[in-house]
Amino acid sequence: MAIHSLALSRLKPEQRHELEDRLWERQKHVCFICERPIDLELQRKVMEIDHIIPVAADGKDEENNFVLTHEACNRRKSSSDLRVARVLERFNRIEQEADDGTGQGANLGHVLKAYGGATKPLRMLIGKNSVRFSASGTDETEISEVPLCRERQQGVQQRVHRRASTPLELAAAPTAAVGAVNSWP
Ligand SMILES: [Zn+2]
Repeated sequence: MAIHSLALSRLKPEQRHELEDRLWERQKHVCFICERPIDLELQRKVMEIDHIIPVAADGKDEENNFVLTHEACNRRKSSSDLRVARVLERFNRIEQEADDGTGQGANLGHVLKAYGGATKPLRMLIGKNSVRFSASGTDETEISEVPLCRERQQGVQQRVHRRASTPLELAAAPTAAVGAVNSWP
């Protein structure tokens, strides 16, 4: 289903084609949501141009707010804000890869592993609006605290809540995991 865009509806077929090519280059040939390759020859007819920030949320109807996605990814996106959809997709992928048949899914350790951290014991406490953590077994005694974004990524946060009640074997870069929960680049 095509998105509602005045700018796109005004394009001639060859202009649309050129726009797709430019976006494809800008995105380094991958889908904005799933970050897997888009084959322009094979998938030209099954991809979408969409707004990163929805127009309804004051996103601009112009090229720098457009991205290319697989049609299927766009259809099942879990947020109309594609930056959020992409983070949730990353988390789903980590969860799938972590699935060992126990139904436990991913914990923060899996998230950190996916972000290239090394293993360090980390104690963490998730509060109402922030996460506090300190690494043990290192010279680091500092307690770090980062805010949690609550409403926009509730699905991810709930999962983190559920699994973060005990000290976890986590990687050396806790900000990577919190970043995965807390921000969407
Ligand atoms: Zn995709």
